[in-house]
Amino acid sequence: MARYTGPVCRLCRRHGEKLFLKGERCYTPKCSFERRPSPPGPRPARRRKVSDRGLQLREKQRARVTYGVLEKQFVRYYKEAIRRPGVSGENLVRLLETRLDNVVYRAGLADSRSQARQIVRHGIVSVNGRKLDIPSAHLKEGDVVGFTGRGQRSEYYKIVQETIRSKSAPSWLALDPANLTVRVSGPPTVAQGETHLFNENVIIEYYSR
Ligand code: SF4
Repeated sequence: MARYTGPVCRLCRRHGEKLFLKGERCYTPKCSFERRPSPPGPRPARRRKVSDRGLQLREKQRARVTYGVLEKQFVRYYKEAIRRPGVSGENLVRLLETRLDNVVYRAGLADSRSQARQIVRHGIVSVNGRKLDIPSAHLKEGDVVGFTGRGQRSEYYKIVQETIRSKSAPSWLALDPANLTVRVSGPPTVAQGETHLFNENVIIEYYSR
């Protein structure tokens, strides 16, 4: 399945809630969901009851869309989550949260995950001092994310310097606003995942059937 390239606000309307996919705009009255929360497309003639399986599917899709992960990769995360010791749902959240693009977004170095993915792809993000342009790369405790030399000379870097003070990072990320670097100081926990819009246990149930 190819990556979705259509209007992202439509996804919020389809899922019936704000998924915060567009950065700053999501917090303003310009948000499409605020203005028109109805699902896209023609109104159905009658409302059908959604089965338990359908509800689980919705939960999984919401998580997948939020992190911008394709189905094949999401299944891989599920398999890895149940293989690891501990609570599978929490393992799944950790796998999603420790993606490089997510850390860049959570730290406030980008306004949205799609923007984070874009700057990683452009090769201006470094991990432990070396360029890393793979948005799905997983970070571990102690890893330091920053900008490459080229990144530090970019216009984007100047914009982030001006806006970073107004951002806040979750407690498992230690942000250094002066140098625009962020260190992964511990494992992300479910409770710390702000804008945590899905129930990971329902997703595990969905795949385990
Ligand atoms: Fe969703 Fe953000 Fe678009 Fe609002 S502005 S509909 S929250 S993506």
